[in-house]
Amino acid sequence: MKRREFLLNSALLGASTMLPIERLASLFQTPFTTLRRNVGFFTGRGGTIGWLATKNSLVAVDSQFPNSAQTCLDGLKEKTDHIMDFLVNTHHHGDHTAGNPVFEGFAKHIVAHQNVPGLQKKAAERRGQETVDQQVYADLTYSDSWSQTVGDETLKLMHFGPAHTGGDSVVVFEKANVVHMGDLVFNRAYPYIDTGGGANIANWIDMLRKTTEELPNDAIYIFGHGNAEFGITGSKDDVIVKSNFLEALLEYTQEGIDAGKSKEEILSIEVLEGFEDFNAPGWGLKLSANIEAAYIELTAD
Ligand SMILES: [Zn+2]
Repeated sequence: MKRREFLLNSALLGASTMLPIERLASLFQTPFTTLRRNVGFFTGRGGTIGWLATKNSLVAVDSQFPNSAQTCLDGLKEKTDHIMDFLVNTHHHGDHTAGNPVFEGFAKHIVAHQNVPGLQKKAAERRGQETVDQQVYADLTYSDSWSQTVGDETLKLMHFGPAHTGGDSVVVFEKANVVHMGDLVFNRAYPYIDTGGGANIANWIDMLRKTTEELPNDAIYIFGHGNAEFGITGSKDDVIVKSNFLEALLEYTQEGIDAGKSKEEILSIEVLEGFEDFNAPGWGLKLSANIEAAYIELTAD
């Protein structure tokens, strides 16, 4: 994914797809939505931010980009006078961590899986010194799970091995029964599979199922990204659909390899059967990119 293409498409998605009446309505819409027990989400630009805001607690999950991070922080400060207990990074990607400098100094700690700082640094180095200099990293990391009482809520992070990247966290607000999945779920959209950043599709399928089995059936899930029709929140069923999609992706690709088809031939399909409602979320993410990632994983030594 090229950064310029990413920024351009993000900007285009924001305005050009809206009808005039929707554009007018969006002017009056707050980017903050409350889900349950003072836990909600914020939409700006980049991966959805989750939050908890009460008289004695403040948490943000992911930080988008500096501009929208500032809008988010300003809005959260209107909800509570409490200092921010934690900023969580669900994984290292720029559309979830580039706003970290805005929260730094206001959040007591930035917490993430132990692989995140290294992956973040490596990704920044590929973009050059200017990007490296802009990075703010988690100062608290964990390996398998981490839990902390925040006000009258319990915040829990779980890592189930490589999936979307090599350092993903499932972030649970236990009492509110709200779960932030980061980019482990692009709701009904072709996901970014970060092969170079430690992704693993086979384990991704398993960890999504394990997550839904471990958490209550009526949990509300927040997703990093989603298509306009299905949105960026959902239920256990939406998480299972993503797991089923990834399973079908591996099966389809393996069948092509077994039949002796060329890579180009395998990549050439428009839709994966049974997943016709999936769309491309922008920034070059297409089904062919997903199949290519599956092909790399299946043909690796
Ligand atoms: Zn991501």
